[in-house]
This record gives sequence, C-alpha cells and structure tokens, in this order.
Amino acid sequence: MNELDILKNIAENLSERKSSAALNNYEVLCNNIKYVNDLFVWSINKLNIIQDRCINELKNDISVNNDFKDNTRPFYYFRTIIPRILLNDISIIEKFITFTQPDDRKGINIEDVGKLKRTFLDFNNLVTSARQFIDSLVTDSYKLTLLDPKSTNFQVLTSLNSFNKYATKSIRSALFNSAIHNSLTEFENLNYNERIRGQESAITKCEKKTYGEKVDFLFDNLGLTADVGFKEEIKNLFSFSSEFTHIGYVSTFFSTSAGAEVIFGDDISPYLPSTENFSELKYEILETATKFFANIYLPSIICSLNKVFENYVFIKYQSLINDIISKIIKDLKTRNNQYYFFIVEGLIASNKIIDLKCMCGTTNHWKPPHELSDIYCKNCGSHFNLIEMKGDPGYIITSNGPVKVIGSSVPDFDELPFNDKLQILKKCEELVNNKILK
Ligand SMILES: [Zn+2]
Repeated sequence: MNELDILKNIAENLSERKSSAALNNYEVLCNNIKYVNDLFVWSINKLNIIQDRCINELKNDISVNNDFKDNTRPFYYFRTIIPRILLNDISIIEKFITFTQPDDRKGINIEDVGKLKRTFLDFNNLVTSARQFIDSLVTDSYKLTLLDPKSTNFQVLTSLNSFNKYATKSIRSALFNSAIHNSLTEFENLNYNERIRGQESAITKCEKKTYGEKVDFLFDNLGLTADVGFKEEIKNLFSFSSEFTHIGYVSTFFSTSAGAEVIFGDDISPYLPSTENFSELKYEILETATKFFANIYLPSIICSLNKVFENYVFIKYQSLINDIISKIIKDLKTRNNQYYFFIVEGLIASNKIIDLKCMCGTTNHWKPPHELSDIYCKNCGSHFNLIEMKGDPGYIITSNGPVKVIGSSVPDFDELPFNDKLQILKKCEELVNNKILK
C-alpha cells in the first residue's frame, strides 16, 4: 500500500459506521457495573471516615513518631499534607464513580430507546475521568509511599508552575499566599537539572519522572512485582485514556455522525449496540480502577501512616484499611466466575426446568432445550460447568463441604434436620482426617 491507500482506508473508516454487534450480555454488564460501583461507593464512605479521624489524630503530638513531632523535624509538615492528599483523591474518586454508574433502563421502550444511545460526550467523560483517576492516584500513591520532602516539593511546585502560567490574577491571589509565591519564584529560577537532582542544598528532587516509573516503583515497593499482568493493565489504562484525552485520533471514530442503530432487546427493555459497547468499556475500566484502589492505593496509605504514627495508633488504621481491601478483593471475585455443579445424568435435554443457584444468591432457571450457550448467571455473569453423575447420588462431599447433586431425590442440604446435617458433616470431617480431600 502507498500513503494514499492508507489515507483512503482511514477516511472510509471514519465515514462508514460498521454494523455494530453486541458481543456481551447487556443485562449482566449492568448488574456487574452496579455491583462494583456500589462497592466503590461503600469504600469511599469508609475512606472518608478514616480521613476525618486522621485529621484530628495528626494534630496530636503524642500519636506521631519522633520525626513528625515538631516543626524542627524533617517530616512535621506531612501532618497537614497527608489528609489534604486524601481529601483531594476522594473528590477525584467521587467524580469517577459518577461517570461509572449503571444505565438507568426504567421505563425505556422502543420509542425512547434513543435515550440509551451513547455518543462522543459519554465516551469522552468516562475515559477522561478514568485518566484523571489513574494519573492522580498513581502520583499520590507514590507521594504517600515515599513521604520525601524534596520530591513532594517538586511535584507540587511543578504543578503550581504550570497553573501559574495561565491562571487569572484573581484566582492566583485567592489560592497563593506570599510564602508559596516566593517558593514558586525560587523554583522558577532553577534550571531543570537543579530541580531534579536533589543535591544537598536543593529545595526539590525528582527520581521517578514518568507515570511508568512510578507504577514500577509502587509494584516493587508493595511486593507485587510478580503480578506482571496487572501492572500492564494499569499502564495500558493510562495509555488508552491518554490517547483519547490528548491526541484524539481514536475519539474521531466516536464523533462520526452515526446512522440509525439496530435495536436489541432483552427481558428488561430495548437497547442499542452503542449502549452495550459503552457498558462493556465502562465495566472494564471500573474493574481495573477498583483493583488498583484496593491493591495499590489503599496499601500506599497504610505505608505512609506506618511512617507517621506511633505503632499503637497505626495498627488501628491498618486494620480499618485492611478490612476495606479484603472486602473489595473478596467481592470482586464473585463477578464473572466459573462454578461447577453436579447433576443427575439424563436431566439435561429432558423437559424439566433446571434451577442453578449461583454463589451470588441468584437462582437461574435453565429452561429446555438446555442450550449450553445459555448456562450462565444472569446476575453476575458467572459461567456454570456441569458434571453428570449416574443414579440418585444425593450429596457429594467436596472440599467446600457437602453439595446436593442437582436432580437427586434428597432435600437441599440447608433444609435438612439438624441431626442429619451433623451426620454428613461428620463424614466430611472423617474424609478430611483421612486426607482424602487434602
Ligand atoms: Zn451469580
């Protein structure tokens, strides 16, 4: 191909709307988006409470370590800076949560299905808020982990320097006092090398300049080096969202004047391919962001509080934050899982409705002709695998305890009389003791 062939291909791709296809299950996506978004709202409420407690506790000289005790010590001022970083991050996260809510499908019918159409504005809001989220939180996790005066000065003064170049006089005078103005002037008078080297007499230093370097540092510091896939995911979200926010070639694909979309439908309401595609991206971003929050951001807060507080104070915060982390990790795992069910041979392809109770609590009614493409949880997207068993086996003892074989004549385990349950559990115990299940 020559350069004109390529240009022609680009032009045609921009002007033609491809017949979009919904590649995922929209209902499941909406449920999962709601579930993870609610989880994030819960976590932020908890973090807000922690931030509030921190402000007061940091004022107390008795609670903090020696290096933070008074203004002759090198880290004293972090007692004011740390809660402000947290407060700002909470605002950024709240904005991100607003742009990652599930679609409201109430009362949508064929006539107003257009309300669910997703356009440039929706994609742009979602992706730019994701960009702000991941960029700010990586930088702040780095700052919190490091708690280094010169590095913090560099980050803040670089930011103020950019801001100062274009800010109006009134905003500048409202935000900057004369002391910070003097600091900024001193910083502006330094050349780049003087700003980053951090020599003895320097006011600033910068060791990790790029986003990628900060991510590498955080993964190393938190002992997550082996999780190469997750690290790539964090870097890829940044590249993806940067492209969309800054250069914008991809965004031109979304701003093309779209023709009428085909209308899809499920048990709830009609919807459009763009709605479904948008939700798919939203879920992916939401999941990555939540994982980042639990595995990197919150541990970075723990890291900084460990430096600041006396141990007896620190362990209280550590336990509060670890509770948030555990819940997020545990709850995220319940989405899009794989589960195994035991089932009596001959039930599949019979004319009976097979009830499959998912771990998320939803009972899915699998109707004849029992299509295998239909065997997943409508609530959480988990896939079910079936293992057929001959006869009427009753319960199967698994490493998770006794499980009823679907289609057996016995009652559900939970409905058994107490003594019968006990008998089966004793059998489990014997098997474990005999190491059969180990
Ligand atoms: Zn489920």
